[in-house]
Amino acid sequence: MVRRVSVLGATGSIGTQTLDLIDRAGGAEAFDVIALTGHSNVAALAEAAIRLRADVAVTADLSKLDALREALSGSDVEAAAGPDAICEAASRPADWTMSAIVGAAGLAPTLEAAQQGRCLALANKESMVCAGDLLNAVCAEHGTTLLPADSEHAAIFQCLRGETAREVERVIITASGGPFRGRTRDQMRDVTLAEAVAHPNWDMGQGISIDSATMFNKALEVIEAKYLFDLRPDQIEVIVHPQSIVHSMIGFADGSIMAQLGPPDMRGAIGYCLNYPERRDLPVDRLDFAKLASLDFHAPDLDAFPALRLVRRVLDAGGAAGAVLNAAKEAAMAGFVAGRIGFLAQADLVELALNALIDEAARAGQTLEAVLDIDQRTRSFVEQRIAQGIEQ
Ligand code: NAD
Ligand code: MG
Repeated sequence: MVRRVSVLGATGSIGTQTLDLIDRAGGAEAFDVIALTGHSNVAALAEAAIRLRADVAVTADLSKLDALREALSGSDVEAAAGPDAICEAASRPADWTMSAIVGAAGLAPTLEAAQQGRCLALANKESMVCAGDLLNAVCAEHGTTLLPADSEHAAIFQCLRGETAREVERVIITASGGPFRGRTRDQMRDVTLAEAVAHPNWDMGQGISIDSATMFNKALEVIEAKYLFDLRPDQIEVIVHPQSIVHSMIGFADGSIMAQLGPPDMRGAIGYCLNYPERRDLPVDRLDFAKLASLDFHAPDLDAFPALRLVRRVLDAGGAAGAVLNAAKEAAMAGFVAGRIGFLAQADLVELALNALIDEAARAGQTLEAVLDIDQRTRSFVEQRIAQGIEQ
């Protein structure tokens, strides 16, 4: 059976790895590709859309519509641009959609895709963080199967197959610790953007690489786990595991632990989602335990990485509190990338934003309007602080 597939964020790190697996599985012969979306790289978007004979290619950037049309000329692929066009493309019927836009920009398109009643592979963790209750409710209402594509959550999902959620005592999310693992706060004061994006184990987009360096990625993943697996805050643990081989673990009521292991290659988790509920051959390295020699684990340093402390406040608050953490983190990261603030100021700004807005966000609850409103106000708050010259 030819499956209809769409990839939102097709030009990014997750998106291109998804297309790689689609190509290897037969490309346009094996799949009916509906929509591919991207942002600035319209040449790569058009090239993929032509190769895979997509119905529509959409760039988020309205000013790039002419360039996209030009790149698609002579093909049957429809061109569109802008955030509304991305949502329209995401709402076109498909059997399997990969949500791999980076940041809160992925929320509205992910909610559209969640109304398909088919399979939604979720890499865009920010939509769970900002509006997990809402996304779960939309999936439940439309009978959509949510497949976590984040490696940790794909691991937890696999460990849970055939198990009873009620018997889960805790989940243990592994963290590589990022490029600054083992450093003190002082030793991270002057780190550069290039150092922050140089992840030791994973080759990822810039945003999530910086999030790994601050460990905000792990903070987001803790919130993502709460909503994906309906967990209480005290059931979620984080452990540093530098080799990134154990992708995460579950502890059951009888003290037994189940873990999922694999090489640090996102095509493992993406391929699991693509082939679900089957398992098929994937082009990932096979683990050689004799060569691995050791797997190390240690507690995270909450002083050096305040993200893991701040996330506890968000878990307890609920409502739209996740949207405050995420928007503050995104706005602060933009400041760091632009060279306007230092690395450590990112967590300081998130803490200030939480102090100012978390109570209100918790009360606001999770409608799309409320989440987008608190997202915007949080960004303004952080941008104002940066403009006023906050420094660590
Ligand atoms: P990336 O930066 O490499 O790619 C992001 C994609 O989103 C691109 O296609 C880009 O064109 C598009 N995009 C950017 N801004 C947009 C906007 N405003 N509107 C619409 N589209 C926009 O990011 P990535 O590393 O592939 O990460 C994508 C998502 O997957 C993120 O949520 C990330 O946290 C998650 N994730 C990534 C990895 C990884 O290994 N890269 C692992 C786990 C989870
Ligand atoms: Mg992850």
